[in-house]
Amino acid sequence: MGESSSVSENLPRQAGKIRVGVLGATGAVGQRFIQVLANHPWFELSVLAASHRSAGKRFADACHWYLDEPMPAAVRTMTLEPGQPGMDCEILFSALPNNIAQDLEPTLAAAGYAVYSNAGSHRAEPDVPLLIPEVNPQHAALIETQRTRRGWRGFIVTNPNCTATHLTCALKPLHDAFGLRRVFVVSMQAVSGAGYPGVSALDITDNVIPYIGNEEDKVQTEPLKMLGLYAVDGIMPANFRISAHCNRVPTRDGHLECVSVELDRPATEVEMVSAWENFRGLPQQLGLPTAPAHFIEVRAEADRPQPRRDRLAGNGMTTSVGRLRPCELLSYKFVLLGHNTLRGAAGGSVLNAELMVAQGYFGERAIAAPVQAALRATQLPLWQHA
Ligand code: NAP
Repeated sequence: MGESSSVSENLPRQAGKIRVGVLGATGAVGQRFIQVLANHPWFELSVLAASHRSAGKRFADACHWYLDEPMPAAVRTMTLEPGQPGMDCEILFSALPNNIAQDLEPTLAAAGYAVYSNAGSHRAEPDVPLLIPEVNPQHAALIETQRTRRGWRGFIVTNPNCTATHLTCALKPLHDAFGLRRVFVVSMQAVSGAGYPGVSALDITDNVIPYIGNEEDKVQTEPLKMLGLYAVDGIMPANFRISAHCNRVPTRDGHLECVSVELDRPATEVEMVSAWENFRGLPQQLGLPTAPAHFIEVRAEADRPQPRRDRLAGNGMTTSVGRLRPCELLSYKFVLLGHNTLRGAAGGSVLNAELMVAQGYFGERAIAAPVQAALRATQLPLWQHA
């Protein structure tokens, strides 16, 4: 896909792996990408890019590493690139700010890169997949429409806003089993959701900020696209309504959401729990490398899930739900929790790329052959097979 550049030529190529890069590598999501991609069985991290302020510097010199786990040794001496065409990789994982992603991601897709974006800039476009592999794997096929319409060699696939991600994960089994009419959600979102350095300590310590710019609109619309029906020229959004209140709270990682749902068809609490526990997504069936064993984890304790205790469920890729009980206004209410920079950002993006390797969008690859065989065995009509 992308043309070769001199910056990463000194890195040894790993046989059979797909070379990938990270845009916005020094930020909160970029660092998670580096963590998720370290020792990845299919992907080899060959390019790191950031702003013109950082380009040309060694990663360790330009990046304020904020994660508790140490910076992987392999990236310390990599030279940051400016993120323009010419990078030596096929896939670009983008953790760019929205205003930069707006123009740069299409430029890179046109140049032949497969861009997996965390930015909000292109999520609502009708020919851009907004993807969670367990929820709407068939929507990946929109890239064919995208390439045809835009004449690109590459493509853009997006993953949803971090709060919308976990809400959609929890709603998917309920939507499939019982249908949904109305959803009311109040979020308590961690400070890492605002990037690094993000919210000032003076603003968030001993405080809750009852406003996150543009967040409520994303939470109210993105789940409807993902739970909608695929058509070649776009997605017909799911036919229910969501009302969201979004708040920034002084937790570090992990977004907590209090949700009330009105179901279309009556269900008991046992049936609700069974819908969550028995749901098995395509990534779990195929054993994709970043897929958690459990897409949803149902907590039985009265006071769980909690951000500090439960955000790393399934290596940060599982959505935890708990406190299911009848709702005085709608049908039921419950609490959900999910990691915002893992499943809600970098982990979600990497799983999207794994899904599309398995679906055959990167051609026959030895690394993914067993998964592609398993996919063919599912005999599902909408997924592209190599
Ligand atoms: P962040 O911590 O502020 O990081 C921004 C990154 O973008 C840095 O690497 C920065 O590089 C780079 N950058 C800034 N200006 C640039 C430019 N002009 N050209 C190229 N690179 C530039 O932000 P973040 O929280 O990681 O968020 C990244 C994206 O993911 C955003 O679109 C955000 O909405 C989305 N997202 C975030 C989360 C989350 O939980 N944080 C969850 C889902 C989605 P320098 O170090 O050189 O400035």
